[in-house]
Amino acid sequence: HLAVIEAAEPQLQAFLKVSAQEALAQADEFDALSDEDKAKLPELAGVPIAIKDMIVTEGIETTAASRILEGWVPPYDATVIERLKAAHMPILGKTNLDEFAMGSSTEHSAYQNTMNPWNTECVPGGSGGGSAAAVAGFEAPLALGTDTGGSIRQPGAFTGTVGVKPTYGAVSRYGAIAMASSLDQIGPATRSVLDSALLYEVIGGHDKRDSTSIPEPVRPAAEAAREGAKRDLKGMKVGLIKEIGGEGFQQDVLDRFNECVKLLEDMGAEVVEVSCPHIGYALSAYYIVMPSEASSNLARYDGMRYGLRVMPPVDVPQTAANMMSYTREAGFGDEVKRRIILGTYALSAGYYDAWYGSAQKVRTLIIDDFNKAFDQVDVLICPTAPTTAFKFGDKIEDPMAMYVNDIATIPANLAGLPAMSIPAGLSGDGMPVGFQFLAPQKRDEVMYKPAAALE
Ligand code: GLN
Repeated sequence: HLAVIEAAEPQLQAFLKVSAQEALAQADEFDALSDEDKAKLPELAGVPIAIKDMIVTEGIETTAASRILEGWVPPYDATVIERLKAAHMPILGKTNLDEFAMGSSTEHSAYQNTMNPWNTECVPGGSGGGSAAAVAGFEAPLALGTDTGGSIRQPGAFTGTVGVKPTYGAVSRYGAIAMASSLDQIGPATRSVLDSALLYEVIGGHDKRDSTSIPEPVRPAAEAAREGAKRDLKGMKVGLIKEIGGEGFQQDVLDRFNECVKLLEDMGAEVVEVSCPHIGYALSAYYIVMPSEASSNLARYDGMRYGLRVMPPVDVPQTAANMMSYTREAGFGDEVKRRIILGTYALSAGYYDAWYGSAQKVRTLIIDDFNKAFDQVDVLICPTAPTTAFKFGDKIEDPMAMYVNDIATIPANLAGLPAMSIPAGLSGDGMPVGFQFLAPQKRDEVMYKPAAALE
């Protein structure tokens, strides 16, 4: 994989940092284990992995693709990294993303653009475009991402890979750089459904260092994926979300989606239409909740504690407040600033109830919709994204156009549900299309079965 990285990186630019020496040392350590010790490790032991640079790694620079964290070397590992290390999975490096995971194309990275391996004129999706491109481009067999509004699944759809957002709280967020804490979740980016299941089982499970971590063992996802590979879905009830997939969806995305629905039926699943009437408000609610939480989380980048510090010019008073403002002006990109301003406004006195309070109420209505839907069916389905990968520059000047690309992924984050995107074939111009499954909370295994059956 290091050789592929060396050959592909000049063009793909999926990695912000390649940790070759560390990876080789970890691989040697694994090789040195006795067969007996190896047998006790998870199935993925020894398999290398790439990590989105939104997850902290001890001794390896972690920037969240922001200038404000340039040069910051974390003194500790995220829980998921500890677990990968315990499983002897070498860490290949840190992958590119939209700054602080804000974006849908990875173009908001402060450092570089990552190409889509299917067509280098197209974006790899975002925010986790680096992880998805690394996996699609065979630079890494596995990767980790973070998904706050689709940042694992939409890049999965754009690059023809599998992207999973586990149930909120199923994977520890300790050491995941906080974007919007009530929505963030770490999850796998892989080339197969079974790989995702196995990786989820390595990183998942309770962690006392994350107060929102679910105090239960990981769900049997690999078993479900293996069961699904038999392609028998008799007795499974699948709900097609009526409100997602109409206007604004590319025709060949809908065509591939409908073909997959037909395949599910051929394998014995019963597919019915279900309604989630409030889902149309999800995007609006997300763009209140997410910036609000981010504006609060990003207050920690003050020039004192981490990374970049910019002192005011000599003719400006050398106060702490001025230092903060010069640091933040230089260290944050436009999209990050836009969200901080939005969030600060939504949370400000006098506006709190009108904006943040209303968004939280909408969120509850969406959760109720999903609960009602799951009374009728086992899993829900919809396309992952309205379009296939778009060209560099197409949406970067138009935040709304960029935001709308998350319309089908955001509802799962608002409701804390597990969701997964798998490849569903190609569009007319040869770009990958994503198919999404959503399962009930804390029942992640439920989506792995039909996903493995379809793949
Ligand atoms: N595109 C979404 C946003 O910009 C997704 C972010 C994410 O999942 N990290 O907010």
